[in-house]
Amino acid sequence: MLFDFHTHSFLSDGVLLPIELIRRAIAQSYTAIAITDHVSVGNLEFVVDALIADCRLAEEHWEIRAVPGVELTHLPPAAIPEVAARARARGAQLVVVHGETPVEPVPPGTNLAAVRCPEVDILAHPGPVDADLAGLAARNGVFLEISTHRGHCYANGAVASAARQAGALLVVNSDAHVPSEILTEDLARRVAAGAGLDGEEMARALVANPQHLLERIAARRQR
Ligand SMILES: [Zn+2]
Ligand SMILES: [Zn+2]
Repeated sequence: MLFDFHTHSFLSDGVLLPIELIRRAIAQSYTAIAITDHVSVGNLEFVVDALIADCRLAEEHWEIRAVPGVELTHLPPAAIPEVAARARARGAQLVVVHGETPVEPVPPGTNLAAVRCPEVDILAHPGPVDADLAGLAARNGVFLEISTHRGHCYANGAVASAARQAGALLVVNSDAHVPSEILTEDLARRVAAGAGLDGEEMARALVANPQHLLERIAARRQR
């Protein structure tokens, strides 16, 4: 089983049409993929509408869970709750926040705004977070991301350690923008091991936690 809740199509800065990204995920034996293109207030509706259409088409014809999502990216932190709610209302089934990576000028306070917001599902590549932030994530049901993406992965060890201390849930995502970045089970396992996860923690991050997130998404769909 292979899950990935963070990928990009050419609706933002990836290179593939959403349906081709899903097709390539199927070719690499994915169980589920979320497409989470970068959005802010200007492109949110356009991106969500387009992703819903391609994810629906894929699920009608192929054996995969295809989840239309968004990645709220470089927003002023104070705007995150309102824009997350707007994405949800438009039909985004997964809300990711682009966290404070070690390699970009993401506004300080983004991580905190994300883990406080009940509409947020995943805080992506948050950089070297502490156990206090991971504790807030755990309390509010926000998953923390272990990233296989270059640059974004530099703080994976710190994220894993804070999550362990605070009981926060981890997921391993690709943040793929091009075909060569789409996950394989082997890469996901190697990156999880590199973050210091033991066998049991790895099983949770790679299978149990993604299944839990898919259940949450399915429950929302039925409402
Ligand atoms: Zn990101
Ligand atoms: Zn991303």
